[in-house]
Amino acid sequence: MSEKIKKIVLLGPQASGKSTQAKGIIDFLDIPMIAASQVLRRVVAKNTSLSKKIKEKMDQGLLVPDDQMISLILGELGGNHCLRGFLLDGFPRNLNQAQSLDDSCGIDKVFNIEISDQEAMKRISGRRICSSGHVFHLEFKPSSKGDVCDICGEELYLRDDDKEEVVKKRLAIYRQETSKLLDHYKRKDKLVVFDGQKEIADVSEDILNYLKEHAG
Ligand SMILES: [Zn+2]
Repeated sequence: MSEKIKKIVLLGPQASGKSTQAKGIIDFLDIPMIAASQVLRRVVAKNTSLSKKIKEKMDQGLLVPDDQMISLILGELGGNHCLRGFLLDGFPRNLNQAQSLDDSCGIDKVFNIEISDQEAMKRISGRRICSSGHVFHLEFKPSSKGDVCDICGEELYLRDDDKEEVVKKRLAIYRQETSKLLDHYKRKDKLVVFDGQKEIADVSEDILNYLKEHAG
């Protein structure tokens, strides 16, 4: 039929439902998920000179240098497990990385799950957790016992990471990182935008319909 889509980059801000959608995509296409954070973690767990260098940066709270990040991810994508394609998450983060990816194995499409900052904020700032890690949401999944966990009875609280000013800062960084990437892929006619403001199940349906049409 049309072009086969099997090499996909997934973009979307925090609370866009990206991880749920990722699962649906890799199941449907039977491709592996390559998450940059997982690749990093795996490399750091080894005891090579590269892993030591990377661990040093991460321990200092610094970003892993571009050239190291690029060689790690491209190495991963060159593996046999990626012959059928892949869903890439957390890479590329900038134009330099995107160009390296274009110049090596290339990608077929970029799926961008778009939600507004206001919506992301609403989804995140309503989260409440207990110290055992049970997660609730004031609006979408309230505890039946109000401000204590209805599973274990512990007090519910807002994580520091979910506080408004922290989320705002993180979203601003995300927008800054991705705006150039989105332009880049739009120019190359690779960008597919999904409306992430909808219910998660409806977004899943949109994505599957797209894949059935273009990757079947
Ligand atoms: Zn609990």
